[in-house]
Amino acid sequence: MLGHLMLGLAAASAVSANPETPDAVAQILASPRFEQAQVALRKDHDRLVAEIIRLTEIPSPTFGEAERAKAYAEMMRTSGIADVGLDAIGNVVGIRRGRDPALPPLIVAAHLDTVFPDGTPVRVTREGSLLKAPGIGDDARGLAALLALSRAMNASGIVTDRDIYFVGTVGEEGRGNLRGVRHLFDSDPRARTASGFITFDLNGSDRIVTRHVGSRRYRIIFSGPGGHSFDRFGIVNPVVPLARTVTALYAMTVPPDPRTTYSASVISGGTSINTIPATAAVDIDIRSLAPKEIDRIDAGVRLAAQTAAREENAARSVAYGSISVRFEEIGERPAGVIDERSGLGAIAFAAGRAFGARPRFDAVSTDANLPVSLGIPAIAIGTGGRGGGEHSLEEFIDVEIEESLRGLNAGLVTVIAAASKGGGAPVR
Ligand SMILES: [Zn+2]
Repeated sequence: MLGHLMLGLAAASAVSANPETPDAVAQILASPRFEQAQVALRKDHDRLVAEIIRLTEIPSPTFGEAERAKAYAEMMRTSGIADVGLDAIGNVVGIRRGRDPALPPLIVAAHLDTVFPDGTPVRVTREGSLLKAPGIGDDARGLAALLALSRAMNASGIVTDRDIYFVGTVGEEGRGNLRGVRHLFDSDPRARTASGFITFDLNGSDRIVTRHVGSRRYRIIFSGPGGHSFDRFGIVNPVVPLARTVTALYAMTVPPDPRTTYSASVISGGTSINTIPATAAVDIDIRSLAPKEIDRIDAGVRLAAQTAAREENAARSVAYGSISVRFEEIGERPAGVIDERSGLGAIAFAAGRAFGARPRFDAVSTDANLPVSLGIPAIAIGTGGRGGGEHSLEEFIDVEIEESLRGLNAGLVTVIAAASKGGGAPVR
């Protein structure tokens, strides 16, 4: 199964031009019920905007999603999604029944959390069709889009072959480390059999994430005896191996393809100008589309850190104690790439093209990283409508209706096609 999905990266980028339109997409586009669904989406657009604003104005930092989850569960119920509940980790999960419960379900998701800590002002301001507030695009719009798609399917009487799980996940951002989607697949045996996973976690309607950027993040902590900088001059200093480790990291080469990056980001340590520090720490962020590249850089950094600690102990006095080094895991997101010529990638591409978007395959890190690592085809797509400033206080979205509907219509076709018997997944 995995071999079928996980194309060589070079092959993926080589073929990402223009996949054929899958039959399921063509059939849906031609169906009168889908026409009705489009009318319903247009009629319902004001409600969508109101729900985006309502969700945005409920603070929902990572690890603090409970209040928004409760409200979202209620909104799912009033959007005709059944069996809605919160799972043990706080994800909101509901099901829209399909024709054949024996079929593996499709999972459609958006994330509940934002990067903004409690206390961040989240009141939405509006100028024409521009709405501004932290977290409004990432990912309040995605959450509201799921509700609008469910209502449009209900209004037009569309029944899919597969059941569709609707999920508001916790912990997608930063230190959340995908804990919500990880829990969903760990704890729900039926979810584990899913035919596909689609997360609405982008602005616009052009980008289709089929290349899931993996990451490994950790803190390296060097510890030593510390002490008065004059009295104890000549003893080991944890800042030295830290600096040497960072230098060694930045001497490492990475390939342009598969895109691989590293960063020494947050550094900390030291107490006062006249004190040799007892600890010095640096946070490391390694990302790549290829798991083996993450492993290679990671191994290089860990070796450099251990070598630098050893060399510092050899270079200076350890009379008051020596330097030790330890690694504190911050997060791990599996990498993966799915086929772009068939299945979910091709469906989303054809759906976008049908509504005048300029679809292109892209590489990002989202909740979709996790199901792909389990062999389940997964993509991230847009909600429609312009937006920007994600992860900043200047975040904004544009709810101008035509651009918004372009993405919603394409998203609806993608979901219905992926939830059809042949749609989405390669035949198991
Ligand atoms: Zn997001």
